Amino acid sequence: MQESDETRTETPPSVPVDAAGPPGTLILVATPIGNLGDLSPRAAAVLAAADAVLAEDTRITRKLAQRFGLAPRLVSLRDHNEETMTGRVLARLAAGERLALVSDAGMPLIADPGYRLVRAAIAAGHRVTAVPGPCAATTALVLSGLPPAPFLFLGFPPPKAGARQARFTELAALERAGLSATLVLYEAPHRLAETLRDLADALGEGRPAAVARELTKRFEEVVRGHLGALAARYAGSEVLGEIVLVVGPAEGGAEPSEEEIETRLRAALAEGLSVRDAADRVAAATGAARRAVYARALALKGSAPG
Ligand code: SAM
Repeated sequence: MQESDETRTETPPSVPVDAAGPPGTLILVATPIGNLGDLSPRAAAVLAAADAVLAEDTRITRKLAQRFGLAPRLVSLRDHNEETMTGRVLARLAAGERLALVSDAGMPLIADPGYRLVRAAIAAGHRVTAVPGPCAATTALVLSGLPPAPFLFLGFPPPKAGARQARFTELAALERAGLSATLVLYEAPHRLAETLRDLADALGEGRPAAVARELTKRFEEVVRGHLGALAARYAGSEVLGEIVLVVGPAEGGAEPSEEEIETRLRAALAEGLSVRDAADRVAAATGAARRAVYARALALKGSAPG
């Protein structure tokens, strides 16, 4: 009988006795972000040899382990219990256990739990090491065609529109003050269009950007373009899958042109913003004097048809 995809197991790794390192070690283990072939032999060996595997969602990790013929002892470590679990994990490390930490996908700590535990383990003098591997942020970065360094990983932007726009306005201010880095963000598919719109409003329609979707999976796709065009492309369309946004660095230093201010103002007014709000947004995003931007917005509003 042919095995289904669910039941098929990958070749079990040969497990070196010392795979999990010396006693009292915390090992951060990267797991696949979609393609199971990306679980490294060393990662599998550590999962097999560790005294326990701290996992964000034990069901997901159990399934992954089963695919490789492994049955590690799993302990739940997620955002909401990380604080209380940390003491217990430190005690186990002190007793000489070798503990692996994994998240549901990719590199632990990268928009995933584990940071507080790692800090505490370092502070307590325990050995902390890693089995590096897949990470959606760096994979999207290198596929984007945008400068790989310096880059700034921002994790998920705030889900609420107001907080997200405020965050991007702060970012625009940092860029006016000299920050120039490729930006990498995670976003849920149902918020992709609005986040692209907010990025375009804050950082400029013409900023080069890329949307990386379903990396390492069957429907992997990287769409490269500019923020304004990408926002328009995804507006109103249903997008599925997992997404990383990459935005090219600010050019830096240049004063915003009249044309850029006008384009931004037209877009803001077309969205239905009042003259005051449109001027506030464009002045914040470009660093142009608010009084001048307000006057320009009033003139545009006055000359608008209807
Ligand atoms: N720790 C993970 C890592 O190293 O990439 C990220 C965990 S974070 C909770 C999950 C987010 O990462 C997803 O919502 C998506 O933004 C991004 N992501 C994860 N896998 C992805 C993939 N295969 N393609 C694109 N984005 C992915």
